[in-house]
Amino acid sequence: MKDRKIRVGVVGVGHLGFQHARIVHQLERAELVGVFDINLERAEYVAKRWDTKVFKDLYELLNEVEAVSCVVPTSSHYEVAKEILAHGIHLFLEKPMTETVKQAEELVKLSEKKGVKLQIGHIERFNPAVLAVHQFINHPKFIESHRLAPYNPRGTDVDVVLDLMIHDLDLIIFYLGKEPVKVEAVGVPVITDKVDIANARLEFDNGEIANVTASRISIEKLRKIRMFQKDMYISIDYLHRDVEFYRKYGDEIIPFFPEVNKSLEPLKLELESFVSSILKDTKPPVTGMDGLRALRVALRVKEDIAKRIHNFI
Ligand code: NAD
Repeated sequence: MKDRKIRVGVVGVGHLGFQHARIVHQLERAELVGVFDINLERAEYVAKRWDTKVFKDLYELLNEVEAVSCVVPTSSHYEVAKEILAHGIHLFLEKPMTETVKQAEELVKLSEKKGVKLQIGHIERFNPAVLAVHQFINHPKFIESHRLAPYNPRGTDVDVVLDLMIHDLDLIIFYLGKEPVKVEAVGVPVITDKVDIANARLEFDNGEIANVTASRISIEKLRKIRMFQKDMYISIDYLHRDVEFYRKYGDEIIPFFPEVNKSLEPLKLELESFVSSILKDTKPPVTGMDGLRALRVALRVKEDIAKRIHNFI
C-alpha cells in the first residue's frame, strides 16, 4: 500500500522517550498508537502531550502495534527488548544495546528468528555534520575523539563507557569497518560509583590508531572527532555541527568547510530510517549487529579499565 503507516508504540517515555513520542507523532509514515511506562503518571503526561493512548500493560500495547521504540534505562533494555521481539514486533532499541554481549547476541538471533527489524540508537550516525563528511572519509589512519559532558544523574545506571564513549566507538568501527585488535584503557569513578572519565587507545590490524576520551564530569561540553587520512585532516564538531577539512594539493594545504544542513534533526532521521526499513523491507542503517560490535568494543574498554582499577568498581 503506497501510503501505509507503520503502527508504532513507545515504551519508556522519560527524558528521551518523550522526544521519541514527539517524533513518531510527527512522522508522515508512522502512527503513534500509544505509550507504555512503568511510571503511569509520566505515561499519562506524555500521552496527553502527543495526543495518544496510554497502555497500562506492555502486552496490551504489543497486541496493537507493528513496531516499538524502546527507550527504557539501559539496565532494562534486554528484558524489555526480548519481550518485544518475542512478540514479532520490529524494534528500535536505544543505545547501548544491552549490558552484555551474550544479551545482545540473543536479541540479534531473536530478531532474525522472528523476521523483524532491529535498529540500535547510535544517533551520531545521523548527525548532519557526520552526514556531510561521509563521502570524504577514506581509511583514516589516526583518529582522536573527545566527548565531554557536565555531570547529569541521568544515564548513570551505566558507566561513561556505555553511556557516552560508545557513540564514538560505533562511529570509529563504522568508519574503519572493523573492530580493534588491541584495546588499552584507563578510567576512574569520581562522582558516581562507576567510571566517570575514561580514555581508550584502540589499535587496528593495519596499524590504525584511535584515541578516545569520554567524561561525564566536565565543566564544559565538547564533542569532537578528528581524523587523519592520506593527504587529509577532517574535524567534526558533533555539538555545533561544524566540519572542517584540510587537504594537501601539491605543496599546499587547502582548508575546506563543507556545507552542513544544520536544520536536520538526527532523532527524526533515525526514526524515519527505522520506519522506512520496515516499509521497504530493507536493512536498517544501524543494525543489531552494529549495536553488538559497538558494545563488544565498549566492554573490552571496560574490562581493560577494570584490570587496572579493580578495587574501585
Ligand atoms: P529516563 O530515566 O529519563 O527514562 C526512562 C523511562 O523508562 C522512565 O520514564 C521510566 O519510568 C521508564 N521505565 C523504566 N523501566 C521500564 C520498563 N521496564 N518498562 C517501561 N518503562 C520503563 O532515561 P533516558 O535518559 O530517557 O534514557 C533512556 C535510554 O535512552 C537509555 O538507554 C539511554 O542510554 C538512552 N539514551 C540515548 C541517548 C542518545 O544519544 N542516543 C541520549 C540519552 C539517552
